Amino acid sequence: MPVRSVSVAVPVPGLPALTYRVPAHLDIPEPGTRVLVPVGTRQVTGFVVPAAGTVASASNQQPATSNLRDVVEILDPSPLLPREIVDLALWTADYYLAGPGEALATAMPPQSAVFTKRVAQLTEAGEANHLQVGLRKQALDLLREHGTLTIESLARRLDSPQGKGAVDGLVRDGLIAMTQPLAGRRDAFRTVARVRLTALGDDPQLTRAKRQGELLELLRGAPDGFTARELDARGIGWDVAKRLAASGLAAIDQVQLERDPFNGDGPTRPPFRALTDEQAAAVDTLTGLLDAKTFATALLHGVTGSGKTEVYLRLAARALDQRRRVLILVPEIALTPAAAAIFRGAFGDRVAIQHSALSDGERHDQWHRIRRGDVDVVVGTRSAVFAPLPDVGLIVVDEEHDGSFKQDESPRYHGRDVAVVRARNAGALIVLGSATPALETFENARQGRYRLVTMARRVMDRALAAVQVVDMQEEFAERGPDIVLSRPLEEALTAHIARGEQAVVLLNRRGFATLMFCRQCGHTLECPNCSLSLTIHKGTRRARCHYCNHAMPLPDKCVKCGGAFMEQSGFGTERVEAEIRALLPEARITRVDRDTVRRRGAITGLLAAMAARKIDVLVGTQMIAKGHDFPAVTLVGVVSADVGLGMPDFRAGERTFQLLTQVSGRAGRGDKPGIAIVQTLFPKHYSIQHATRQDYGSFFEDEMTFRRAMRYPPAASLINVIVRGPSAGDAMDLAGDLARRVRQAPSPGIKVLGPAPAPLARIKGEHRAQFFIKGTNRARMRDALRAAVDDRADARRRISIDVDPLSVL
Ligand code: ADP
Ligand code: ZN
Repeated sequence: MPVRSVSVAVPVPGLPALTYRVPAHLDIPEPGTRVLVPVGTRQVTGFVVPAAGTVASASNQQPATSNLRDVVEILDPSPLLPREIVDLALWTADYYLAGPGEALATAMPPQSAVFTKRVAQLTEAGEANHLQVGLRKQALDLLREHGTLTIESLARRLDSPQGKGAVDGLVRDGLIAMTQPLAGRRDAFRTVARVRLTALGDDPQLTRAKRQGELLELLRGAPDGFTARELDARGIGWDVAKRLAASGLAAIDQVQLERDPFNGDGPTRPPFRALTDEQAAAVDTLTGLLDAKTFATALLHGVTGSGKTEVYLRLAARALDQRRRVLILVPEIALTPAAAAIFRGAFGDRVAIQHSALSDGERHDQWHRIRRGDVDVVVGTRSAVFAPLPDVGLIVVDEEHDGSFKQDESPRYHGRDVAVVRARNAGALIVLGSATPALETFENARQGRYRLVTMARRVMDRALAAVQVVDMQEEFAERGPDIVLSRPLEEALTAHIARGEQAVVLLNRRGFATLMFCRQCGHTLECPNCSLSLTIHKGTRRARCHYCNHAMPLPDKCVKCGGAFMEQSGFGTERVEAEIRALLPEARITRVDRDTVRRRGAITGLLAAMAARKIDVLVGTQMIAKGHDFPAVTLVGVVSADVGLGMPDFRAGERTFQLLTQVSGRAGRGDKPGIAIVQTLFPKHYSIQHATRQDYGSFFEDEMTFRRAMRYPPAASLINVIVRGPSAGDAMDLAGDLARRVRQAPSPGIKVLGPAPAPLARIKGEHRAQFFIKGTNRARMRDALRAAVDDRADARRRISIDVDPLSVL
């Protein structure tokens, strides 16, 4: 008889799917079903995946069938994840060289992992045993006192390096036993008790005294019954409901509550606007593609303020008319509520949102609404690309160039690129929208792979903001090297605020000063864990590392030589805020960066205050640069356009162009024209020059010349491999070994560069080395790397692989 077995993806980084035996008393589960399986000494939640062979996977060293371990339990009566999503997640794992379990975990709502804890308990022999001294006695006493303890908390309470060994010994000797009860729940719906009338109670002849009679009367008029809260509002206690239930006249049952991130707000939006000519032409072309009901990718290249959202809305309405569903991906948390509100306004409560600022409970409930088919439109951030939405006919990726679509931990996927694959699998139209498309995207459009649709003008014939570049070399020469705000920016701020208009001031760097050093010995404050200097935060009077969060109080003497003169240099948003306060003491100034916006949802409040014109000047990092639509903003200041340009990263020029174009796009969106003032040390740099003219085409040409010469994406494909180690030598050794193995792979056209110490050579105490694989055939590059990494499975945890990296620091 053949062995009944299934492939299961387990949530262990880098591990391929494992094969398990399905014991006779269980049915064979289908792909997408959650199962409880043993891995090492633990039991974990895994996903059944299609048997190996249907998925490309290099490691097929499965144990002999006789050694297979058993599936412990099947957690879902039918597959939780639709097959389409299972396949998309497995594609993601394969393309980005991640484990299938990690990729499937990304596709899941929170709180869906059921796991087991190992719990220790005294056996009878243990009860009877009375040791006099030692760790073993302490362990037994602890269990006597507490009954049961998880193995971790028992070992922790013993507080000794030998604690774990002592516990293991007691298990071996039969004095304590380990059990593995389930922790977590199969689902995490919130339920609420409701009281309803039974058939028995529904007899109109029947009466009851006082409160019970009153409740009977109420229930007769309310087929849905009441919750405790609803009864309370009517002056009846829950105990009355319980007494009715006890006599069989009413029943109390648990009903599922939906946590609604909109708090029940309904549609609010007026019907569609009259389209501009450009919008109408774009809608026409894209509708043609949508009606064809086959896979197509389009790039909607529309300048800031050209009204791309209105185009998305029309297309979405069309897809819904065809009884197909719509997935809208947006980049930043701050933008999601606004985008969701627009779609909610147009399509009512059949819109769900999925993003990380929701509570776990809200996300969980929204996920299940989508899965049930109760939703037609999903608006969400990166991971919403895996939303279990059936029959997708249209996918929109708004601000497709945005870096936040790329996940910076494994699987390091790009939400836009996975979305294109999803659209292909579903036969859907995907629209990528941006004023500053990623070079990859525009190149695809130029080569004819994507349909290019252009909107070159703002709606209502509004002018793009005029951009004025200020050469800071000249300002420094005139007014000293310490100035933060140039004269033109100061004057413009003063004038615009005096007229009652709003301003946005951007600096893509937090803190007050970027460096603190001793004037006597030159010693600088550096992070003990990372190869970076500490940033000075004046508000909290601390120096903090922006990578590992290490912090210390600001010293008043040099820690090295004891010198009394500590200097600060460089500046961040905190300093900019202080300068503007000094300039405009009457103005209402608010700063938005990761230091001020820690709490979930806080940014939403700040943006609402800005929209309500309760703020005059908004100072902040790139959080404020993109997407927002504040019609009363007429001035945008960029304190330093150079923050990104100095980085040893081939995308530095592209990022600078995008940031400047996007932030200038925030000005002049209302009736009054806008102006942007850009301060820079490199006024001649092509990124800055083209951004000031908002000339994407010329920027693209110049940037592509550079990329082609250097064979950087999109002129070639790139994989970045980072290797960590306890010392620089360890990291370099392993990186060297991997690089050699890839070089030796019999694959023409692959080039390996490095290894070398990474630009950030140390982060969080770990040393980092990196190498690059360049080529034109990604599949071959991946295969060569996968083979090399499989040979060094011992070191898998120290290797991070980034396919199509956005940043190479
Ligand atoms: P983009 O995303 O292209 O930068 P938006 O979609 O945010 O532009 O639109 C910019 C502004 O123009 C918004 O305030 C929007 O409400 C408005 N708008 C869009 N289309 C029209 C139209 N056809 N008529 C009038 N106003 C419009
Ligand atoms: Zn650090």
